[in-house]
Amino acid sequence: MEISDKMTIKVSSINEYLYCPLKLYLRNHLELEEIENEQTFENKNYNKILSQLNNDFRDILRRNLMNVNKDMSAAQISETLFNDVPYLLKKSLENYEFTDDNDKNLLFNELEKDLKVENTILALKIHRILIKTKKDARQIVEMIFPPSLQSYLMRDKSLEISGNIDKIEIVNGKYYPISRKLKNPPIRGVWDSDALEIAAYGLLIEREFDTEVMVGFVDYERLGDRRPVVIDSDLREGLFIVIDAIREIINLGDLPEVNINPKKCEKCSYMEICNQNLDFS
Ligand code: SF4
Repeated sequence: MEISDKMTIKVSSINEYLYCPLKLYLRNHLELEEIENEQTFENKNYNKILSQLNNDFRDILRRNLMNVNKDMSAAQISETLFNDVPYLLKKSLENYEFTDDNDKNLLFNELEKDLKVENTILALKIHRILIKTKKDARQIVEMIFPPSLQSYLMRDKSLEISGNIDKIEIVNGKYYPISRKLKNPPIRGVWDSDALEIAAYGLLIEREFDTEVMVGFVDYERLGDRRPVVIDSDLREGLFIVIDAIREIINLGDLPEVNINPKKCEKCSYMEICNQNLDFS
């Protein structure tokens, strides 16, 4: 049987489902446009620009890393790595329209500050590697920026799942799904929705490349924090339960049970609709 797009569950639905199953239902069946939450101009643009900057930022780091050597201090490495990053940022912001220069400057400063944090963490890591090992800059580039596939679309007919993964890193013939997140991580580990997303991408990679995927990573980029996800049998089982529940909502049109969580509802674009039809008291 040919699998239609409607039957294929997108990996991104997992996040929506865990946020609120009813929200997933409403968006899929009532033909409602997602109303953007009230966000400041800087916040809306921050996320968009940062995700677009990401690859170019990494290209600059990779290039500048070749100029680093073991006689440098961590501060000197940091300065070397950051060379040209402000210029990249300035050029990127030229692609956006701002109502006034103040907005533009605020956004520039915020983005620069966050990229500097990531840059400093990387510089410390490189400094430690240079001191503790005999690796040269080229070897460190290979270690920190392994061969990877960026923004790779996968679709599996038997699993009926599809998704566009941020990155797949390939190290010593092993494939690692990588998800980039701009939100903050939990105190320990990763958010449940992020773990399930990694598991779903792990399964897709296994089918796509005929390999086994046991571990993936979530990069919480604002903190420069990479956290592992072990794709064990419990996580795989949990993923199939969630995918089945999503399928019932999206493809069969089953109305999910509602567990009202005021904190989530406050930020939800369907608050008004739910408010009129559900008891929020
Ligand atoms: S307002 Fe609350 S209950 Fe309604 S869809 Fe949003 S999160 Fe779900």
